[in-house]
Amino acid sequence: MDGKALAKLIQSEIKQRVADHVAAGNPQPKLAAVLVGDDPASKVYVRNKERACERVGIASELHRLSGDIDHDQLLALVNELNRDDDVNGILVQLPLPDQIDEQAILDTIDPLKDVDAFHPENVGLLSQGRPRFLPCTPHGIVQLLDRHDVDCSGKSAVVIGRSDIVGKPIASMLMQKSLPNIKAGNATVTVCHSRTQDLAGVCRQADILIAAIGRANFVTAEMVKPGAVVIDVGINRLDGKLVGDVDFDAVSQVAGMLTPVPGGVGPLTVTMLLENTLMGAKIQNRVAVS
Ligand code: NAP
Repeated sequence: MDGKALAKLIQSEIKQRVADHVAAGNPQPKLAAVLVGDDPASKVYVRNKERACERVGIASELHRLSGDIDHDQLLALVNELNRDDDVNGILVQLPLPDQIDEQAILDTIDPLKDVDAFHPENVGLLSQGRPRFLPCTPHGIVQLLDRHDVDCSGKSAVVIGRSDIVGKPIASMLMQKSLPNIKAGNATVTVCHSRTQDLAGVCRQADILIAAIGRANFVTAEMVKPGAVVIDVGINRLDGKLVGDVDFDAVSQVAGMLTPVPGGVGPLTVTMLLENTLMGAKIQNRVAVS
């Protein structure tokens, strides 16, 4: 499954929809990104997001803050961005330094501008099957499934990882009866974590296996049912190379479909942020969301 090519296709669709939105007399959608400190990976992620905005005609502004900023200063910036009518989406790049209460910052972002979909209100809406924004990485995963015609209905989906960013929301999405504009759903979902017993045995039952662990080459061929669809969310550095959570060479001999790292889920995560920024602009400009 080529995530890079799919991201390019979806970005071209978003570019057209952004142009239509502006041609209808609405202001250009705008994303505000907040980067705290000098973490090299965070800098790369934010730069990729800014470039992607540029490609589809979304404006972006970057707020760079020193790593020793205190909690109240960051809170004040988020509140300022909440009040700024020109800003449709707010992205605070994680992780934040230890002196900052990350949850309190995320909870302060206006839920209507919460393009990462981390705010409890947006998490709750998704859990009830009536999402406002879909979280970017899980949304990227379901785009991969939908656009490769993977039928999830009645299938066994196993998610390894239970984080708020990937594991929990992708499990929630795959078990939903229906979600607007999404085909994937109605799966029988099992969520695994570090306490799961017989993890390999559970994984071998999966028609769709999603690895979001953060451990290089963790998923081996013996853990995969022949013909299964395997989505590798992990991003790990091994001997200076980027690798996923799945042993790509071995698992590609067994799986029916498999995403590579890099070039799988990652490009779609960025793409879904663009989708959410356009969605935020529509919500704030009271344009019907399609
Ligand atoms: P996380 O918050 O660290 O969660 C990791 C999960 O894996 C936890 O639930 C943990 O279980 C589970 N786990 C760890 N070791 C395990 C083991 N030996 N057996 C079974 N489960 C185990 O990570 P995350 O934020 O979800 O990210 C996961 C990976 O995806 C990372 O590599 C991250 O860089 C990557 N990622 C990629 C994208 C993208 O766009 N491609 C986006 C987000 C994240 P416990 O809960 O029991 O500790």
